[in-house]
Amino acid sequence: MVKVPRDRKMSNSLFDILLSFQYYQEVPTAGPSVLTKIIHIFTNKLHRSRIGETKEGVMLQISKNIIDEMITHAQAEAPNECCGLLSGKENVVSEIYKIGNLQSDDPAVADLKVPPDRRFRYVMDPKEQLRAFKTMRTSGTELLAIYHSHPHSPAYPSATDVRLAFYSDTYYLIISLEKEKPEIRTFRIIDQKITEATISVLP
Ligand SMILES: [Zn+2]
Repeated sequence: MVKVPRDRKMSNSLFDILLSFQYYQEVPTAGPSVLTKIIHIFTNKLHRSRIGETKEGVMLQISKNIIDEMITHAQAEAPNECCGLLSGKENVVSEIYKIGNLQSDDPAVADLKVPPDRRFRYVMDPKEQLRAFKTMRTSGTELLAIYHSHPHSPAYPSATDVRLAFYSDTYYLIISLEKEKPEIRTFRIIDQKITEATISVLP
């Protein structure tokens, strides 16, 4: 059971509550799976309120440096999948957050009904996710994309990726190491429907 301080109303300060030290301290007793769900609900709420800022069909713009960092991250974690977050403003990515892929014995892995083996799935460490969201808030950026790697398969969302696509206002970016030259593609996944978007690489 997650306790929310009684003197704080669950209204427009949901994100503040999520990030407050008091709340953060109570969460570990609730287990990571509950924390993961809370993050999904809260961030979706936060980003829904900003949906007006995102125009359909706008390209996700990412610097060559950040593209290279994601590829390096994917190669370093291979044969396991890597995962992380990209933040920025108005579809221009300015920050990358590498997030740990939870170990097979973490309760969140069983709870999400994903394969235990990290070669075939990613489940982000919820505490590292929280730290990243806190940094975004400080830097005035917002979550733009969630990235992960496919070490042995194409850069296209798997059935599990679609099932667990909780963030409807965020791009899903996949780095494939299947072929010699890494491939990166990005998608929106809304109500289980996959739509490819364009990545514009900035110098
Ligand atoms: Zn995947």
